[in-house]
Amino acid sequence: MKKIKNITTTLKSIPLDKPFITALRRVDEVRFVRVSIAFDDGSLSYGEAPATKAITGEDLDDIVASVLDVSPLLQGLHVSDAFSVLHQQNIGTSAKAALDMALYFALYSFEIKSDVKEVETDITISYNKTEVMLQDAKEAYAKGFSHLKIKFADDIEHAVSTTIQLRALLPDTTLLIDANQAWSLEESLTYIEGTKGLDLALIEQPIEAKQRDELKMITEFSSVPILADEAVFSLEDVKYVVENQCADMINIKLMKCGGITKGIEILEYARKHNVSCMLGSMLEGPLSINAALYLAFEYSDVITFIDLDSPSLYKEPSDELKFLFQGAKITPLV
Ligand SMILES: [Mg+2]
Repeated sequence: MKKIKNITTTLKSIPLDKPFITALRRVDEVRFVRVSIAFDDGSLSYGEAPATKAITGEDLDDIVASVLDVSPLLQGLHVSDAFSVLHQQNIGTSAKAALDMALYFALYSFEIKSDVKEVETDITISYNKTEVMLQDAKEAYAKGFSHLKIKFADDIEHAVSTTIQLRALLPDTTLLIDANQAWSLEESLTYIEGTKGLDLALIEQPIEAKQRDELKMITEFSSVPILADEAVFSLEDVKYVVENQCADMINIKLMKCGGITKGIEILEYARKHNVSCMLGSMLEGPLSINAALYLAFEYSDVITFIDLDSPSLYKEPSDELKFLFQGAKITPLV
């Protein structure tokens, strides 16, 4: 079996069509680190990680530094031995994810075995003034997106009123509400009360990640499913949230859990325990989106919603994607 020869990093960026705005941040381009692993047989394998300091705590420099830190420990190892060494290291989850995906695709082919031919992604409607959000939602719907991921911030009146108007404007859409931890317990309940009967598909991470007891209270109160995102990084987090019924659903992202092998562990757990999942991503480059979509196809039985809209937000299409994006529909090219 081939051995790891060396590991290098490159910084990359892709401009966005319009700025991406959530309760936590505003960005105009996707910036990411591409990790390249060279093997002693001359082959190369790649992984990627974007900087989402607000979520994983890592900026691009942190990711590069972590990758370079662990490189000497991985050099000379067989691919299959490198995973456990990598995941024992105390580095950020995005850096781990980039290395893990490069290792994974050095070992396994990118062949999708699932019978599923097509998946559907949502699209993000950034936090903005109500009229702008309504306009963005209308445009997205006209482009073929019927699952809309609506980003709100701490203005709860704006959130309730925008949701009511959105539902009136687009009665046939699936509305996924994402507060990105911006609300208090009280505000979350106010939102749920104020949007009763609007047939929301889910409410994602209304309160701070660490407020698991409050999350459970919201979940008990709400008839709309509550999705844990920032509250679940690792399999241990997922187990806690599921076993304690803190949320109805979980959002899995490679950058939170530390890569494909860790994502698979969570998906296997979800499959075994009948936990409905969203497979999401940060704003990411094409290779890590490829990796996430690979899982989206292989685990479509437990993945209820797919939130992999990054490529639809790029200003120009990327020729590195292994999938065809046509509006909300995604099909493999391979
Ligand atoms: Mg989220």
